Amino acid sequence: MHTARQRITNLIKNSHKVSDKYLWYPVPRKEDATLSENGLPLEQRKTAWNQLHNHLFSYQNTFLGFQINQSFDSEKAKPFLNIALNNDGDPFSPSSQDAMNTKVMECAVLDYFAKLWRVQQSFHSNEAERAYWGYVTAMGSSEGNILALFNARDYLAGMPLLHPMLNLDGSKVPDRDVDPNQPITEMHGHSMLNEYVASHDHRNEKLTHTPRKDNPNNFTPVVFLAEDCYHGFEKALRVLQMKTFCDIGSGNFSCPLKYPDDYPSSFSDEFLDQNGWPHAVPVEADGSISIPCLVKLVTAFVSRGFPPLVVFTSGTTFKGANDNPQAAINQLVPILKQHGMYERRVYSPEHPTKSDIRNGFWFHIDGALGGAQLRFLEMAIDEGLVDNVFPNGFPVFDFRIPEVKSIAMSLHKWFGCPVPSAVFMMRNNDQVRPLDQPLLIGGLDSSLSGSRGGHSVLVMWDLLSKKSYDDFKEIAADGVQMVAFSLEMLQELQEELSLDLWVSHTPGSLFIYFRKPREDIVRRYSLGSKPMKVKTVDGTFEERIYCHICLMPHVTKNLVLKFVEELREPGAFAIDN
Ligand SMILES: *Cc1c(COP(=O)(O)O)cnc(C)c1O
Repeated sequence: MHTARQRITNLIKNSHKVSDKYLWYPVPRKEDATLSENGLPLEQRKTAWNQLHNHLFSYQNTFLGFQINQSFDSEKAKPFLNIALNNDGDPFSPSSQDAMNTKVMECAVLDYFAKLWRVQQSFHSNEAERAYWGYVTAMGSSEGNILALFNARDYLAGMPLLHPMLNLDGSKVPDRDVDPNQPITEMHGHSMLNEYVASHDHRNEKLTHTPRKDNPNNFTPVVFLAEDCYHGFEKALRVLQMKTFCDIGSGNFSCPLKYPDDYPSSFSDEFLDQNGWPHAVPVEADGSISIPCLVKLVTAFVSRGFPPLVVFTSGTTFKGANDNPQAAINQLVPILKQHGMYERRVYSPEHPTKSDIRNGFWFHIDGALGGAQLRFLEMAIDEGLVDNVFPNGFPVFDFRIPEVKSIAMSLHKWFGCPVPSAVFMMRNNDQVRPLDQPLLIGGLDSSLSGSRGGHSVLVMWDLLSKKSYDDFKEIAADGVQMVAFSLEMLQELQEELSLDLWVSHTPGSLFIYFRKPREDIVRRYSLGSKPMKVKTVDGTFEERIYCHICLMPHVTKNLVLKFVEELREPGAFAIDN
């Protein structure tokens, strides 16, 4: 057995002049990039291009800190850069007047993910069989997340659905709208339905005679975000004017998390507001949502008639933690059923006798990173290609869980794509009816973005058509090995330096996080950093600044070694005592 130190030495010896590759070119000077009314002289243009090119290419070689895969192949898509592509509107609209789109490839990519995430067991042969709806976004997962909240808000508020499980009083739910994979169809006897409740009749004066249940909370969605949820959600809630459990509960009733024991031991009470409410659902020390906290909080709201909207994360932004949606949902379903919120009859705001049957909850998966990597890692583990790295069972996140309603996953993260893009997907029956069907785009205006680029789809189609599940399983398994290798290197460095580098890792994650090194190192390796409150051995909380590296498919052992070498240099960690 070689020691890790010997292995480093060997690897460095065998690597082709590691250091030559690592020259860092500065960002182009502002003067060289400044434009003018008369265009720029050829020389200046050349200089600016060269500087930018050198800069980006040199930093790409040492890109370690973000969950963005730098290894992808866009050769096939390159000729299409000379065509202005636009996938405006719904990908399934057959009659777009703009021929310059790549929706054929987009739908193929979507079908691929529908099968991967098990909303559809096999590729559907016609439109009527399609069990999902979704599209490839113009932004990244941020757009998928906003659309999930937008659709969930209106779904829970009782807005009309595009494919309602119609129920004119007394009539049967029409079979054509029934998806046998959906839990809702088990309920034909309606025994578990909520009492008849009118949806949003305050929005429509004409409907005040509609039978309504007295509780106005019935159509007020309450959002449950975890402390480690993607930071963009707060902005999304602001845009969408939606409220979290803390916004609604704090000051109105007492928090169901009362005692220190109700919180994970890593929780700092600094996160409590003046009424004793946490701003977000507490997380465990590993960064995953605390299921006991979530269950208590959701119960407090469901029992008051509020429909819950819970966001789970597969691969949190800093620690890369994976929530366990299945474990949480298993505990939440009986509570939802008990309070008539699992399924309920919702009256149409447009027609007083029309109703549909839908759920009174929404579970969204923010799988910006994990939505891609986890499925293949699961297969790799199942086939014994790699050891199970999840101590509490595999965190299944996809549509195999009947209550999971939507997923967002960034293409440029694990898979790799030169432009930000994402797949958003939800169950077909849950889609709220889009506002408009403009002739101009020849179909439903169902996407959040207007113009959508058609190029990311091409890069994805190329990748998915070249690689098999086996290839992706291997990439996922390699990721686990790379994490183990890097962790070992950093832990060894920590011992060697006799300095606590706070080296930490959440099992199953692609990240390792540790004490922030000197600023220039942070910049050269594009390390992400974040301040965190951490409970120390004596039980007090300390504010620390961490950095992380992410073992994306482009990261090599050489790069990790080069990085660790740099951390070994005196002064790499500015410790102020
Ligand atoms: C990166 C990230 C997002 C945002 O995705 P974009 O593709 O950058 O828009 C959302 N959630 C998580 C957990 C992320 O890490």
